Amino acid sequence: NFSFGDYFKKEIIPWSWEFLTKELELPADKLWITIHTEDDEAHDLWREVGVPEEHIVRLADNWWEIGSGPCGPDSEIHIDLGPERGCGKPTCGPGCDCDRYLELWNLVFTQFNQMPDGTYPPLKSKNIDTGAGLERLASVIQGKPSNFETDLMFPIIEYACKVAGVEYGKDADTDVSLKVIADHARSMTFMIGDGILPSNEGRGYVLRRILRRAVRHGRLIGINEKFLAGAVDVVISMFG
Ligand SMILES: [Zn+2]
Repeated sequence: NFSFGDYFKKEIIPWSWEFLTKELELPADKLWITIHTEDDEAHDLWREVGVPEEHIVRLADNWWEIGSGPCGPDSEIHIDLGPERGCGKPTCGPGCDCDRYLELWNLVFTQFNQMPDGTYPPLKSKNIDTGAGLERLASVIQGKPSNFETDLMFPIIEYACKVAGVEYGKDADTDVSLKVIADHARSMTFMIGDGILPSNEGRGYVLRRILRRAVRHGRLIGINEKFLAGAVDVVISMFG
């Protein structure tokens, strides 16, 4: 979602907190916040909604810019999936490379204007660019280890398992192929539904490549007959 000169930090922080903890009923004590090192305003607003000091982490990386133009600090909301998903290092925390802290949402506060001379005057109209991961939220709410086990993906994996005569979760390489098939089958269904056809350039070429890659991963798990049309039927039945 975007806000251009409308709602800003003091609105989006309580709104995102309310959505996660009240609407989705995620456990507040498992949520962690990252902010930019110098963003005291965001810090104070997170404290106001009730985030304890020790769950607010300041990171120099929390800064969005693409060269000259609007830019600013960002603030991420992570959920702690538990020490069993972590690397166990004493430095482990939100932003760690391991799987323990899953980033659910990023709020980008576009409030400065990077000038060619390298200065950062404040923007008159401040903006918000905010995005939460639908599938990540689904995986957390449904208690699944990843996006692929949620009801947004798993029926396609189950279909491919049946056709191939394999089981999910038994062999790492097989699982990779099943995930590729599920992801690509879903993408190609939406692409074709949007009017894209396989071709040798642009988005049509992307479609052709993911189609071929899905077929190849089908072969890798022992599917030698045509199976993608059936996967498309599964996607259509899931997403209508
Ligand atoms: Zn870690």
